[in-house]
Amino acid sequence: MTELATIHPEPNIIPRSGHGISRANISPNALKVLYRLNNAGYAAYLVGGGVRDLSLGREPKDFDVATDARPEEVKRLFRNCRLIGRRFRLAHVYFGCEIIEVATFRALHEADGEAGDNARVLQDGRLLSDNVFGSIDEDARRRDFTVNALYYRIGDFTLVDYVGGMADLQHGVLRLIGDAEVRYREDPVRMLRAARFAVKLGFRMHAETAGPIPRMAHLLSHIPAARLFEEVLKLFLTGMGLQVFECLRHYGLFGCLFPDTEEVLAQDELGSALTFLSRALANTDGRIAEGKPVTPAFLFAALLWPPISRRLANLGQNTAEPIQVIHETAGEVLERQLRTVTIPKRFSIPMREIWSLQPRFERRTGKRALRLLSHPRFRAAYDFMLLRAEAGEAEAELAHWWKELQLSAVAQRVEMTGSRRRSGRRRHRRKRNDTA
Ligand code: ATP
Ligand code: MG
Repeated sequence: MTELATIHPEPNIIPRSGHGISRANISPNALKVLYRLNNAGYAAYLVGGGVRDLSLGREPKDFDVATDARPEEVKRLFRNCRLIGRRFRLAHVYFGCEIIEVATFRALHEADGEAGDNARVLQDGRLLSDNVFGSIDEDARRRDFTVNALYYRIGDFTLVDYVGGMADLQHGVLRLIGDAEVRYREDPVRMLRAARFAVKLGFRMHAETAGPIPRMAHLLSHIPAARLFEEVLKLFLTGMGLQVFECLRHYGLFGCLFPDTEEVLAQDELGSALTFLSRALANTDGRIAEGKPVTPAFLFAALLWPPISRRLANLGQNTAEPIQVIHETAGEVLERQLRTVTIPKRFSIPMREIWSLQPRFERRTGKRALRLLSHPRFRAAYDFMLLRAEAGEAEAELAHWWKELQLSAVAQRVEMTGSRRRSGRRRHRRKRNDTA
């Protein structure tokens, strides 16, 4: 067996006075779960991102609990509990809209022959499942980063550290537990998580954690496209999308998620595709910071626009029907993209609408221009056009005109677009003007 699954060193136990976690900052529901488990005689710990973020004085996204109670035992303790997962069962304890996830300690088993029936690793080293119950130190070792493997014990308010997570937390270092190559091979998504956490926490990746990423990034092609969709949302829709994008590109990960877009970025001599994407991501980050809604449809519209925009630019003035070109290119780009990252139809349909509406901004006259204002996707398409204008892809003057149009009263809108109400007299008058 490898050291990952067998060594049982003494953990570093950090007393209450040596860490910054206070019960006042833990969700009352998580505390309820911890206390009930503890009172029933089970080990009960807060673990993962909750402990990490609280230690750093940040607000955690959610609270995960780890215990030695088996899932059925957890279920017996909580009425409001559901067991989920087929291979590895987790308990979800429901408190209104808050869910506390309770996981039984698990161990990692290697496919080195000794694990026998417990072999869970594919030939290429990828971990299929880690569904073997284990001890707390084994549970610590199967986690990804040292700072994600700290356990806050509700019994005595100590922090239990098997992997040197506390020192890394203090030094701002993101370090994968165990041998980085082995861990990335087991689960290549850990490379994306490394980029996300490094940016989110403002941590430096340890050299051994960062080193293998560029040469192993291609392993992401083994990951189901639906899982990568979820990861892409976490990468780009949690407020630090621009920095995450830069980090992903630095490590050669972006191209594994969005190959067509990366190809354009790599050949982008004028830098307009990069400007466009950077502005789009910064804009999304800004919206999140202001508490405004963001949609995956807009995000994917931006992430996949560079190849479409390049096709349009290559056709130049010869494009008689840009909407048709967009439609065809969108089909091709999407077909390739969906092999890597799923985009559910509820997002890809509005995404394509945002693209198809772009050429319509060029038309400033007539009723069609006015009708665009009331299109259900107008606002998103307009915001998208503004980004194109910022990147020099659309005329700044055009963006300004559409802004004016929206701010104008109805009569002025009619004036601006030169559109008139359909009445016999007016049509007659137009005819006369035409012949004049
Ligand atoms: P956040 O929720 O803030 O994004 P987190 O650290 O809580 O960060 P989760 O995805 O919620 O991340 O996972 C909870 C914990 O489960 C992690 O802290 C880590 O210990 C463990 N974990 C999650 N994904 C993996 C993985 N791919 N490999 C190993 N351990 C993982
Ligand atoms: Mg979490």
